Parts: sequence; structure tokens; C-alpha cells
Amino acid sequence: MPDIAAFAAQSPTSDLAETRIHRGEPAAHEVAIDIEYCGVCHSDLHTARDDWGGTKYPCVPGHEIVGRVVKVGSAVSKFAVGQRVGVGCMVDSCQTCSSCEAGLEQYCETGMTGTYNGSLPEGGYTFGGYSKHIVVRQEFVLSIADTLDPAAAAPLLCAGITTYSPLRHWGVKAGDKVGVVGLGGLGHMAVKLAAAMGAEVTLFTTSPGKAVDAKALGASRVVISKDRAQMKAVRGELDFILNTVAAPHQLDPYLMALSLDGVMVMVGLPDEAHPAPGMGPLIMKRRSLAGSLIGGIKETQDMLDFCAEHGIVSDIEMIRMDEINTAYERMLKSDVKYRFVIDMATL
Ligand code: NAP
Ligand code: ZN
Repeated sequence: MPDIAAFAAQSPTSDLAETRIHRGEPAAHEVAIDIEYCGVCHSDLHTARDDWGGTKYPCVPGHEIVGRVVKVGSAVSKFAVGQRVGVGCMVDSCQTCSSCEAGLEQYCETGMTGTYNGSLPEGGYTFGGYSKHIVVRQEFVLSIADTLDPAAAAPLLCAGITTYSPLRHWGVKAGDKVGVVGLGGLGHMAVKLAAAMGAEVTLFTTSPGKAVDAKALGASRVVISKDRAQMKAVRGELDFILNTVAAPHQLDPYLMALSLDGVMVMVGLPDEAHPAPGMGPLIMKRRSLAGSLIGGIKETQDMLDFCAEHGIVSDIEMIRMDEINTAYERMLKSDVKYRFVIDMATL
């Protein structure tokens, strides 16, 4: 197969720009996909700029991929040419460890392979969805219902599953009082999904201008997190909080909003540590602080089916591939409503 067009960062400080990458022909168990849309996750920005360390360059981000199958390997049984499919944050794992056997490939004991910047056993590393085309083993390809708008469904592959998985794992159910911190890509999906599960949702935001949108997305209450009186007014009220913020911040005010045995789950992964939480807020009401990484493949398909059933997709702003650098700057200013999606026809 000839080399294909992609958009890459060449260093932590360079803008992303067009380049060419190599993709092989699909092996027996692999599916070749022409990419139609790719969502823009804050993790793309963290990785492109080496916020977490370990980025390999050139770096082609993108792990919210939707496209059409164009070729399948001889052993592929799950997918056919022409079918609309998705690829999320992982493209491989060992498939045999206890985590993989439990459908928790994201916690694979030998390490899953990320869709981008993931090391390959034969050497080299993976390139993500800011490209025309991708080849993925069938176990890591998801079916996308025809009833879902394909561009708006793309962010479900990361923002959707990253918020759905902890809501399910901690058993959020109808009537529960759920807090969501940050109304960005992950946060707006968390609000929609928790509301669809029947929870009563409180949105914590640093952006007062997002309050009206938060209610339209399904929140019943909005708390401006910089306002101490508003934070004090919700103390001890919530059963569960999902914290999606991409920057270091004080955790205690949110822990204090939890009731007895309440849990705050962190999914945001800033480049610097949060100030350490006080032990008082944890001890006094037996609260927990936890973390969660994306979700397994079966759970991702469950989430896509849940979204198809409830008519849930992301609220997106479509961009051209060459607008990606401006989109990153806007993301850093919390100025996204609520997920950028790249129209890959513009590459
Ligand atoms: P995003 O769209 O940029 O949203 C983050 C939101 O956090 C912003 O919209 C803003 O909401 C709030 N925020 C930003 N700066 C803040 C600050 N200094 N203090 C308080 N709130 C602030 O990002 P995203 O794509 O949703 O990703 C969020 C984080 O999750 C990133 O760190 C990303 O790498 C991580 N992530 C983790 C996983 C996982 O598996 N755990 C998966 C995907 C992404 P308001 O304007 O409402 O305050
Ligand atoms: Zn992501």
C-alpha cells in the first residue's frame, strides 16, 4: 500500500502539519478502515506536546475514529466491506491475561497498545486517527449503528466510554445524585450519560457561561466552582462525582460535596499533580478517591448500543484538518462546545 496522508507533531513545540505515513495491508485478522471523522481529545494535545513524557515523534494523534471498512483479512468474521465502524483508544492487548479475559483490555497486564504512540512488538509505534486510513485487528473494532450521526458518534469512542465505564462500575442508578466536574469533551458526555441512567446531575464548572448548556444537556443544577458559597451549599450531598478536569486543582472542595461513603473518580490526567487532598474530607465521611481508564471493548460496544438506544451523541464543532492547531489553543482555554471533530475529507 502506498504511503498515506496524516497530520503529525514533529516535536513538543511544533504545530501539527501534514506528513505521510506507512500503513500495511490488513493481515488475516485485521480490518482496513477509511477514516471519515476523528474526534479531538485533550489527550491528543497532552501527547502531541509531551505533557506526560514519552511521546515519540513524529506523533499522529487521534483515538475517536469513525469510518468505513474498505478491506478485511481472510480470517475476519465480524466485519464486512462497507460497514461503518469505530476505533477508540486501544488497538491491541495480549488477549490472554486475567484483565483481558475479563474484558478489561485497558488494564492488560502486559500493557495494551494505544491507538497512537503505542509501542509495537516488531518495533516502531502506532499512528492514530489524524490520517486517511487505519488497519486494526478485528477484536478492537466497534460497530456503529446506522441511526447514529457518524461525526457526532466519533467522540463516543473515547469521551463516551471514559465516562460510561466508571458510571457503570460504581453502579450509578436512577435517583442517584451525581456530580460532574468540568464541562468539556468528557464532562458533557458524563452529564448526558448520567442523566440517561436516571441520575440527578450537578455540574461543577469554572465557566459561568456554560450553565445554560449544562441544563440543556441534562444537569439539574449548576455550581460555579470558584464561588465558595455555592460550593459550601452542596456539602455532603452527592453520592458520586466524576472529575474530568485536565488541569491541577484543589480536590478537597469536591470531596466535601460527597455524602457518607461517596466516591470521586478522577479521569482527567493533568501534566502536573493536583495538590494532595486533605485526609479529613476522606476520613470524616468514609469517602473514597479513585481513578478510571477508558473502558474495555465489550463495554465500549455496550456504551455504543446504550447511546443508539437513547439517541445520545456528542455535541460537536466540525473542523478542517488544518484547523487543528487553533482547536488545541481553544481547548486550552476551555472554549470547546463540546468536542471538536475533524472532517477527514479535508485532509
Ligand atoms: P476538555 O474538553 O479540555 O475539558 C476539560 C474541562 O475541564 C474544560 O472544558 C473545563 O470545563 C475544565 N477545566 C479546564 N481547566 C480547568 C481548571 N484549571 N480548573 C478547573 N476546571 C478546568 O478535555 P477532555 O478531552 O474532556 O479531557 C479531560 C481530561 O481527561 C484530560 O486530562 C484528558 O487527557 C483526560 N482523559 C482521560 C481518559 C481516561 O481514560 N482516564 C480518557 C480521555 C481523556 P469548565 O469550563 O466547565 O470548567
Ligand atoms: Zn481520549
